[in-house]
Amino acid sequence: MSNDLFQKLGVSQKFQAALDAANFVTPSQIQDQAIPALIEGRDVLGIAQTGTGKTAAFGLPLLQRLDARNKPAQSNHPVGLVLAPTRELAIQIHTELTAFAAATPLRLGCIYGGVGQNPQVKMLRSGLDVLIATPGRLLDLISQQHVKLGHVEILVLDEADRLLDMGFIRDVKKIVAATPRKRQSLLFSATMPDAVSELAAEMLHKPVRVEVAPKQVTVEKIDQRVTMVATPDKLAAIEHILRRDDVKKAIAFTRTKHGADKVARKLRNAGINAEAIHGNKSQNARSRALDGFKNGDTWVLVATDIAARGIDIDGVTHVVNFELPHEPESYVHRIGRTGRAGAAGSAWSLVDPSEVKRLRAVERLIRMPITQEDLDIEVTVPVERIVQQQQKSHQEQGQKRRRPRRRRASRAAA
Ligand code: ADP
Ligand code: MG
Repeated sequence: MSNDLFQKLGVSQKFQAALDAANFVTPSQIQDQAIPALIEGRDVLGIAQTGTGKTAAFGLPLLQRLDARNKPAQSNHPVGLVLAPTRELAIQIHTELTAFAAATPLRLGCIYGGVGQNPQVKMLRSGLDVLIATPGRLLDLISQQHVKLGHVEILVLDEADRLLDMGFIRDVKKIVAATPRKRQSLLFSATMPDAVSELAAEMLHKPVRVEVAPKQVTVEKIDQRVTMVATPDKLAAIEHILRRDDVKKAIAFTRTKHGADKVARKLRNAGINAEAIHGNKSQNARSRALDGFKNGDTWVLVATDIAARGIDIDGVTHVVNFELPHEPESYVHRIGRTGRAGAAGSAWSLVDPSEVKRLRAVERLIRMPITQEDLDIEVTVPVERIVQQQQKSHQEQGQKRRRPRRRRASRAAA
């Protein structure tokens, strides 16, 4: 009864129990726009930030249409294919879709690299309707004839911009080319760089374009702060922030894997239960870190951008940017890890004077200034001193650069 709103979009009764169990009452904006078009069989280009509910937006119509085929799954021949950039994201989609498919006979499976292929091969042989995959492992298993894409009717590219960022463009094109021309295609992406637009133009047929809420709306409900602090004092600063009473679960972001390990180690040394998660860790270590974080054993996860992509954990109260990302868009992705599904959240950024340019780029993107707050910590390097040093070295560099130019000029004049 609570799901009248989903039924109005064309979602069948069959999915009601699962929607109730997930507590989905009101469709999100992207669900509202994409579901009717997808149920009709149209191609869709979806542009939406993390946390806008894309999984159900493509998942419910995909399951509904494949269920309506009413044919048993065939060995090694999936009919629905979802490509995702990371194993975490693939697993998350698999989990969510499996819950939605509970009342259907559909069989779903997930494949990704970094683990042995035998269980995946066995699963594929036993027959799947829907395969969720990362591109590398999928191509690998295709080349070994364990997966055949000739029966694919629905193809979904999730987080297309990230797939391309991670260098999967050629793999993705190969996979698309291995599916039948006549198919339903969906492409979802948070951003639309040229490479994604080109891919969309190639793979989508007369797509319905659905775009949700401009960026600043997504981040508006998150309380954002910036603290100017020299890099050597950032550990003291993050510790100070994490010890605040209102911090229940936090994700700290670093730019590098090495940085993530170092910050996690130092926090543990300071008695804060932190775990690092990044691409160099084994799948087991990553799952362990995530499970620990989900069940509350670990309350601080230190992550790199790619590792954290698509991780969906409820109850993250704080995001701390140990460093600002190179791409301002990543800032929005990062802080979107908190304040999910309507909850309030806080995002705190530690900014060394050398990062001020990046801070301005972020502020331009979100179209608002971020409140600056000093922390009550003992600093070893006052920020003002760094700023002065920077100014001095800029002046010196300027002088150095000018001198030879003048000489050339006088030689030319001679
Ligand atoms: P995205 O893929 O856009 O990042 P997800 O599909 O992972 O977003 O959804 C983000 C979170 O919001 C998940 O926890 C999901 O269960 C929840 N969610 C999605 N749609 C709804 C809805 N209609 N009602 C309530 N919660 C929702
Ligand atoms: Mg998603």
